[in-house]
Parts: sequence; C-alpha cells; structure tokens
Amino acid sequence: MDVAGQFAELYGYEPDGVWSAPGRVNLIGEYTDFNEGFVMPLALPHTAVAAVALRTDGVLRLHSADIDAPVAELRVEELTPLSLSAGAGQGGWAAYPAGVVWALRDAGHAVSGGADIHLASTVPTGAGLSSSAALEVVTALALNDLCELGLDAPRLAVLAQRAENAFVGVPCGVMDQMASACATEGHALHLDCRDLTTRQVPFDLAAHGLRLLVVDTRVKHELGDGAYAERRAGCEEGARILGVSHLRDVQYAQLPAALAKLTDEKIRRYVRHIVSDDHRVEQVIGLLDAGEVRAIGPVLTEGHASLRDDLRISCAELDLVVSCADTAGAIGARMTGGGFGGSAIVLVEEADAEPVTKSILEAFTAAGFTAPRVFPAVPSAGARRLA
Ligand code: ADP
Ligand code: MG
Repeated sequence: MDVAGQFAELYGYEPDGVWSAPGRVNLIGEYTDFNEGFVMPLALPHTAVAAVALRTDGVLRLHSADIDAPVAELRVEELTPLSLSAGAGQGGWAAYPAGVVWALRDAGHAVSGGADIHLASTVPTGAGLSSSAALEVVTALALNDLCELGLDAPRLAVLAQRAENAFVGVPCGVMDQMASACATEGHALHLDCRDLTTRQVPFDLAAHGLRLLVVDTRVKHELGDGAYAERRAGCEEGARILGVSHLRDVQYAQLPAALAKLTDEKIRRYVRHIVSDDHRVEQVIGLLDAGEVRAIGPVLTEGHASLRDDLRISCAELDLVVSCADTAGAIGARMTGGGFGGSAIVLVEEADAEPVTKSILEAFTAAGFTAPRVFPAVPSAGARRLA
C-alpha cells in the first residue's frame, strides 16, 4: 500500500498531500560545511515520503511505517528542545519531525494548528546517507506548502538543520538538509556553506559510461561519541590561531604558511584536511565543468587519504573498500559522510561495476567483516510534492 493509503488506514481520513525528500551522498568536501567551506553532495533515489494533513486543534501526531512504535501524540505549543530523546529508542525518532515543527514555530511561522503525519522511508538509517535530514526536510516542505509559509528551499534546509541541532541535539552542519532540499536530477550540488549559495553542476554518469557505487559498510557511525565535536573544536581552534573566522578563509596557496604557524600536530592535520578538501571541491567542479568526469577519480581517492590520515575519521572497513576498489580497477574511491563507519563511494567504468563489487564483497568476507550493501548512486531530484 502506498503512503497515502497507509495514512488513511491509520488516521481514518485522506491526507491533504504527499511529499518526498531524498537521502544524499557527498561526492567531495567532508567536514568543510561547519568551516563555512564547500561541499558537493548529490541526492539519492532513496527518499522519505510523508503523507500529511493539517489539524486545527494544536495536536501533532507522528507515525513511521518503518519503526515498531505507536503514533506519537504531542502538542505543538508544548514542544521544547531536547524534550524528546532521539536515541535509538523506538519513540525517539519522532524528535526529527517534531523538531521541524518546533523550529518553524520558533521562527514565528504559523504551524500552531498542528498536523497528522505518516511517513515511510527507503533511505538506509545510520549509514551516513542522511535518513535524518530526509525526515526533517520532507516535514518542512509539507508544512511549508500546507501552511502557505512561502519559504524557499535553502530556508527550509536551515530550519531543518536547526531542528536537528537544537531540538534533537545533534551538532550537524547544513549540508545534508541543503542536499535533500535543493538537489536536482543529473547534478551534484555545489554548495557554499558560508552564504548557502548553490550551483547545479552537471553530473550525468550514465552519459559518460560511468557508475558511482555506494558501499554501505553497515558499521554504524556514532557521531554522538564526541569525535565529531572534537574535530569541530579542533578546526575552530585552528581558525582562532590563524586569525580567521573560519578555515574557509585560509587560501590553498597559503596552506604551507598557515601550517608553519601551527605547533599542535593534531590541529595542523585538521587544518590541512579542511583547506585541502575545499581545494578538492574546486578541482572536482573544474573537471566536471570541463566534462572530464573520469579525472575526478584520483581527487576522490586523495580525499580519502586526507580523511584517513589527517582528520582520522575512517575505519578498517572504509579503508578496505577504498584499497580494494583501487586494486580492482576503480577510477577513484573515498569514504563519505561523518566517518567511523557508514558508507564509501566508488567511481567505476560501467563495465567494471560488477567485478569491482565482487572483489569488495570477497575482501569483506576474507576480512571477517559483515557483508556490505552496494548500490548505484544515481544523482536524483531533491524534495518535492508528489500528490
Ligand atoms: P543518518 O542520517 O546518517 O541515516 P542519523 O543517526 O543521523 O543517521 O539518523 C538516523 C535516525 O533517524 C534513526 O535512528 C531514526 O531515529 C531516524 N529515522 C531515519 N529514518 C527513519 C524512518 N524511516 N522512520 C523513523 N525514524 C527514522
Ligand atoms: Mg543524520
């Protein structure tokens, strides 16, 4: 049954509409978003789909087809940050859509009548593919349309990020929500995280005879364990020592001079990663604009080395994907997302997709790791109304 049908069965009446918002993978530019730098995500064909109807009595009802939990019933006026714990607990998932309602209300938008929401998602959770942003953005877009708020996609993304930061309590950057809200089919999204300006960069893999594989290692990333906050604090400290507001302001040509000013070995590594990854985003854009899609491969692989050796957020499974892809003849590969597990991306010639996948699966078996899930990342549409 489709999501609208499930809504009708659950709540006993028809929804006002149905919306979808995708998960994403990041092509290049990792941990650069909170440094006000550049990122380049693309939307996946995997989406969160929400059927929604407005209410008038201030009640918010939330239900997910993918979670074994009853309908969460809340009052819009009583929503407060961190009032719902969003951990792995069955009920905690509701903090993501509830946080969006809170963020809209807190920004002065008229959502106080409440809503009934039922959703289902095909975005794998906890795989670094932003299932959380998909939930937030689909909720934000549905309420924007139904309440006629007139907010544009970047504004909705920022409110969704605020929901995750302040209401759920996860200190993520804005990339995931921007990708889910603003991506378009056949493109990667060049995002400047300083002013949220975007450009759609053509990334038509099929036209070039290429495929981008996502390899979900099934190792759960735990960004909450403090590593993310530690990297973030290290980057802020680096910027402070270098006398810039954010590491985005350190030009790549100035990197050697900047590194010479940093005595702390760890801060040096973090700064080197951020400044060089911002540069790699520019390199990839230049190559894609020139139609040299294959040439981005080595840049992706360099990006992985930087995440592994300088930022130190990789893990054995992600490193194995990248080394194995390289040996098996892939054009380039890197881990993507927050790290410590989650997913890697592998750029291959179409004809090599199968043999490369096979070698990765075999290498995981040989290493005694859980079999990864491998699927193609087809650059897909951002959030939209379906019905
Ligand atoms: P990621 O965004 O990388 O997938 P997160 O830890 O940020 O990982 O978000 C995963 C959380 O989002 C899940 O633990 C759950 O609370 C919520 N979530 C994601 N998809 C769904 C869904 N379909 N139904 C209910 N909750 C979901
Ligand atoms: Mg997330």
